Amino acid sequence: MNESNLSKRLLQVAEQIPMGSRLADIGSDHAYLPCYALKNGMITSAIAGEVNHGPFQSAIEQVKKLNYQEQITVRKGNGLEVVNKGEVDVITIAGMGGPLIASILEAGKEKLGDIKRLILQPNVAANQIRVWLETNSWYLINEVILEEDGIIYEILTAEKCGESPYSEDNYQLELLLGPLLMEQRSDIFVKKWTTELNEWRKIVSQFDKAKQTEEVLMKKQELLMKIKRVEEVLQ
Ligand code: SAM
Repeated sequence: MNESNLSKRLLQVAEQIPMGSRLADIGSDHAYLPCYALKNGMITSAIAGEVNHGPFQSAIEQVKKLNYQEQITVRKGNGLEVVNKGEVDVITIAGMGGPLIASILEAGKEKLGDIKRLILQPNVAANQIRVWLETNSWYLINEVILEEDGIIYEILTAEKCGESPYSEDNYQLELLLGPLLMEQRSDIFVKKWTTELNEWRKIVSQFDKAKQTEEVLMKKQELLMKIKRVEEVLQ
């Protein structure tokens, strides 16, 4: 992969960047995403942030190779530490777990004042990002689900202005499945949750074989309830 041959996943992340943005890509690794966005005229400048030395060096080399040093600054640091107030208007964080992305946002909260859009691509546990966004008054404006090389990814785009996409009755389920993905109900969405359902059913049968303590019975009941609610969405 390189900046002109981006993965399907990163291409979809790039599609969410408004034209003319000043971008910060946190956990940029090879800086493929900002390089692609600059090459395609989507951004005017970018900060590529990396906490680890190897990926930080890869980003520096990539930016140098393309002669983008004027427009793309590679900075070493933890999360949003690399961003100064007012420097960027869009932040992308892709290819990490949902809890790590949520913790990066939480730790860097004070840097988000001027940010217009967050584009987040968790590899797992997107629900934890939805919780963070909702708690901090960031509103989901788009959700994308895609499959690449047999792995299913979700991309969450949020802005500060808007209205909550959640309903009172279905809040917990919408946090888990994604309120906008639930509306779209794409084939990939159905595939993802059918696979999850099968995993949960296996856990139920393990509970059946276990000693029927109060804790086991309670966990089984909770899981059965979750299975029922997701089944209803998929039907
Ligand atoms: N964003 C690229 C993508 O989606 O293909 C690279 C994803 S790579 C799997 C995750 C990158 O995030 C690694 O290069 C890692 O060093 C970096 N990373 C992890 N935690 C970080 C943090 N707290 N701050 C900045 N970078 C971080």
